[in-house]
Amino acid sequence: MNGTALTEDSLRAGIVHTMREMVRLGINQGTSGNVSARWRDGFLITPSGVPAAQLEADTIVWLPLDIDASAPVFDEKRPSTEWRFHRDILRARPEIEAVVHTHSNAATAMSIHGRDIPAHHYMVAAAGGNSIRCAPYATFGSQALSDHAVAALQNRTACLLAHHGVIALGADLTRALWLANEVEVLAQQYLLAATLGVPPVLSDEQMDEVVHRFSHYGVQRKRP
Ligand code: 13P
Ligand code: ZN
Repeated sequence: MNGTALTEDSLRAGIVHTMREMVRLGINQGTSGNVSARWRDGFLITPSGVPAAQLEADTIVWLPLDIDASAPVFDEKRPSTEWRFHRDILRARPEIEAVVHTHSNAATAMSIHGRDIPAHHYMVAAAGGNSIRCAPYATFGSQALSDHAVAALQNRTACLLAHHGVIALGADLTRALWLANEVEVLAQQYLLAATLGVPPVLSDEQMDEVVHRFSHYGVQRKRP
């Protein structure tokens, strides 16, 4: 979805594709998880309680960014119960275009212990810093969960949600999906390393250097 002009139709199709990819990659199942993408002064978001295989582009719901959090009235298309954190993240983070939420197994296992993913591997820096924080527990769909998530995502593009799952952000759907999968891989590697003892971690200096390198990573040098 990079480099081509975005249309509402392409974003709707992209959200459906992302939900199906989450199942294919093994990072989501059933009616768990949800996806949103910024569109105009609002965002497109998956409907609530629909398995990925049953999603269609026209089941994706559009909500305005200024939707009232207290008692919104929805028509027959009900958005994801997590529309509050999608809305609040997109409001707080203008550089972010897409939000992916999963219940992937290893990352959720760490979240059950309320554990941040520490700097056991340099790829933790792909989420923007020297750890991937775990937000405190709050009921799914609640404003409290959204507040915790926005705080845990400060200077980061991913976080865990205690006893729940993962949120990953991106400049587009492809990158948010990639990061959601990367968080799961990092959690799997952490748990595997933990079978040999407490995994050693990289220093803040080592991680700062990786964060700095990632700010240039993948950028091609301009030809003279
Ligand atoms: P929705 O089907 O309402 O998106 O809920 C799934 C979920 O993961 C809640 O946290
Ligand atoms: Zn969830």
